[in-house]
Amino acid sequence: MQKSQQLFENAKNIIPGGVNSPVRAFNGVGGTPCFIKRAEGAYIYDADDKAYIDYVGSWGPMILGHNHPAIREAVIETAQNGLSFGAPTELEITMAEKVRELVPSMESLRMVSSGTEATMSAIRLARGYTGRDKILKFEGCYHGHADSLLVKAGSGALTMGVPNSPGIPEDFAKHTLTVSYNKLDEVKAMFEQVGQDIACIIVEPVAGNMNCIPPVEGFLEGLREICDQYGSVLIFDEVMTGFRVALGGAQAFYNVTPDLTTLGKVIGGGMPVGAFGGKKAIMDYIAPVGPVYQAGTLSGNPIAMAAGLASLNELSQGDKHQQLASATEKLAMGFKAAAERNGISLSINYAGAMFGFFFTDEEQITTYEQATACDGEKFKRFFHLMLEQGVYLAPSAFEASFLSTAHTEEILDKTLEAADKCFAQL
Ligand code: PLP
Repeated sequence: MQKSQQLFENAKNIIPGGVNSPVRAFNGVGGTPCFIKRAEGAYIYDADDKAYIDYVGSWGPMILGHNHPAIREAVIETAQNGLSFGAPTELEITMAEKVRELVPSMESLRMVSSGTEATMSAIRLARGYTGRDKILKFEGCYHGHADSLLVKAGSGALTMGVPNSPGIPEDFAKHTLTVSYNKLDEVKAMFEQVGQDIACIIVEPVAGNMNCIPPVEGFLEGLREICDQYGSVLIFDEVMTGFRVALGGAQAFYNVTPDLTTLGKVIGGGMPVGAFGGKKAIMDYIAPVGPVYQAGTLSGNPIAMAAGLASLNELSQGDKHQQLASATEKLAMGFKAAAERNGISLSINYAGAMFGFFFTDEEQITTYEQATACDGEKFKRFFHLMLEQGVYLAPSAFEASFLSTAHTEEILDKTLEAADKCFAQL
C-alpha cells in the first residue's frame, strides 16, 4: 500500500479527491484506494505489485477478464490506420449490426462514448417523441450523471450521500418523478395522477447501483403494460446488465421487451463506448432524420468500435453466459455457506454474472429501503479484510460485483477460502 498511499497524496493535490470518478476514492469504505498498474485475466496489480482477484472488472466492462488478447490485438491493429476521422466508417455498421443481432429490440441504434450519454440521449428522445416533459425513475437506480437523472440516484451518488446533487436547478429536477424499485403499486398510483404527462419510465432491469437487486416477478412486465396503456416509452437502462445478465441482456433473461435500450460498459470492451437504440419509429426522431438533436465528436470512434466488436464477438462464442451464471451461483452459495459457518447473517442476490451481498438478518433484499438499512460498518470491515487477503470487491456497499470468464474454479475457491477467514474475523 506504500506506493498507493504516496500516489493518493500526490493525486489529491491536483485532482479533486484524488480521483476522476468519486467511488474510486474509497470514501464508502475508508482507507487508501489501490492505484492500479496493470491487470491480467481475473487479477489486478497495484502500484506495489500486490495482486488482487478483481470483482469490479472496471465497473463492468471486463467480462472476458483483463487485457484479453483478442481485444488488445483489435485495438492495436485498428490504431495503425489512425485514431479518429469524424466521418462514418464501415466498422460502425458492423458494430451496430452485431449489437442488433444480440439485442434484437434495438432495431436502430446510435453509438455514443459513455453510459451517461446513452441515457441522457434516450431521455431526450423519449421526451421529443412523446412531446411530454416528465420522466419516471426509481429511487436508488443510477443512470449516469445527467442533470435530470441525478435525482434519488444510486451508485457513487448514494455512496457519497448526495443522491440529489446540488447544482441541478429545481426547475429541471421537478420533471423527474421517483418511486420505489420493485413496487408496481407506486408506479400505477403515479401514472393514475400524471400518466398523460410522463414521457418515459427508465429502469435498471436488474438494479446494480444500490448493490444488486433483481426485479421481483411481474415487475418488468407490469412496467411494460403501464407504458403501453399510457403511451409512455419504456427504457431499459442496460448499461450494466447488457451482455452480462445474458448475452441478450436482462430483456432476454426476463423476456420483457423495452421500447428503447441504453448500453455501456461491456459494449466497449474497456474503451469509452455507449449506445442507445430501439424501435425504429422512435429512433427516426433523432437528427439528422428527425428533429431531436444528439451528436458526438468521438461517437463511433474506430478504436473504441474495434475493442467493442472484438469483445462482443468473443463473448458470443460458445456458451459463455452459462459458464458465467454457474460461476456466479457457486460464488454466491459459497459466500452464504462461509458466512453461516461463522455465524454471520448474510443475504445474497445474483443474476447472470452480477451479484451482491448484504449484511442483514433479512432473508431476501428486494427494495431500496432494505438495501440501505443493511449493516454498512460490517461491510466496510469485510471489504478491508478481503482486500488484505488479496480480493478486490467494489469499495461501496451500494455497488454490485461482477464476474468474468477469467474467474476460474480455482480462483473462485481461493476467494471463498479468503471469505471464510474474513467472516471468522468479523
Ligand atoms: N446506467 C447504469 C445502469 C450504470 O450503472 C452507469 C454507470 O455505472 C451509467 C448508466 C453511466 O455510465 P457511465 O459511467 O459510462 O457514464
